[in-house]
Amino acid sequence: MIQAKGWAAQDPKTDLAPWDFERREVGPHDVQFDILYCGVCHSDLHQIKNDWFEGIFPMVPGHEIVGRVVKVGEHVTKFKVGELAGTGCMVDSCQVCENCKEGLEQYCLEGNTQTYNSMERDGSRPTYGGYSNTIVVREEFVLHISDKLDLAATAPLLCAGITTYSPLRHWKVGKGHKLAVLGLGGLGHMGVKFGVAFGAEVTVLSTSPSKEEDAKKLGAHHFLVTKDPEQMKAAQGSFDFILDTVSAEHDMNAYLGLLKTNGVMMCVGVPSKPYAIHPFSLIGGRKSVAGSGIGGIKETQEMLDFCAEHNIVSDIELIDIKDITASYERMEKGDVRYRFVIDMATL
Ligand code: NAP
Ligand code: ZN
Repeated sequence: MIQAKGWAAQDPKTDLAPWDFERREVGPHDVQFDILYCGVCHSDLHQIKNDWFEGIFPMVPGHEIVGRVVKVGEHVTKFKVGELAGTGCMVDSCQVCENCKEGLEQYCLEGNTQTYNSMERDGSRPTYGGYSNTIVVREEFVLHISDKLDLAATAPLLCAGITTYSPLRHWKVGKGHKLAVLGLGGLGHMGVKFGVAFGAEVTVLSTSPSKEEDAKKLGAHHFLVTKDPEQMKAAQGSFDFILDTVSAEHDMNAYLGLLKTNGVMMCVGVPSKPYAIHPFSLIGGRKSVAGSGIGGIKETQEMLDFCAEHNIVSDIELIDIKDITASYERMEKGDVRYRFVIDMATL
């Protein structure tokens, strides 16, 4: 066993605190890398609070992980000791179902193995995430990270990046499209960057008027304050796509009204309660509500390579692990600009 240290929630009511635990030995197909930075996703907060379902505790969150390889198994061919490496939300899948074969491991028909709050495939122990010093992952789920980009700011690409890149690619959002990004947080700000990079006309839909200047700096062409009924009224029927990144309950019917005929609402945010969608919100204009989960491994590598080529990273606030609870509080208030990343040297 490998002795690891990290920060864990012992139960859904307790703040994260230091915790020592064990990881599996490096198997023939495994890569071990020491973690240098880990992004803080709203999903971490949802899961330590049992917002979605009963979690596995103690829980070490973190699925935006980058670091340097320290050991590889004898059959590993993709990685060498000393190289940069990254892991996102998944560490395993069945690898043989039709979805896995198509590079859609996130939709593995047997269910993928999540980086934390999941059981290892052999059922032996829970998986533990990136708020820790080291991790062991099977080679297929380890990504190559460019040394051209700022490493800390690259970490959020592993979840916030791929989760916004994948639906925009799937629905072929680009030139000639009007894209609205709903919620300017970790996912939202990446959605803006990719939407702009793909050539769409991008509008940020936000509850926070104070984010307008940032939205424009991120490349957004327009900014709409969703709490202002006049602005909402003026934007009725104007978008081809809305990328919904909102983490809390919100009125879908109001936002569906902003879509054009045949418009698509791409849901990636996961509030704890189901949406209440009135059929009329969809029928009047043949609108679709769709969802998308992270992205497959091949597409994640494609996204990372795209970012290296186009110099795209997250806008981050680098934090000390000791400030994690305070950072969660700010995230809960929508006050994240635009991703917290933990400097693991502070562990
Ligand atoms: P985040 O950084 O906290 O951003 C969420 C943003 O939503 C906030 O900054 C805020 O932006 C807006 N918002 C918050 N409460 C709102 C409300 N009541 N009404 C309207 N807007 C509100 O969170 P994140 O890390 O980007 O994650 C967003 C969601 O995506 C979470 O639910 C997370 O679990 C989920 N997620 C899904 C996937 C997937 O595979 N589908 C992957 C990762 C994360 P404004 O201030 O601009 O309004
Ligand atoms: Zn995430």
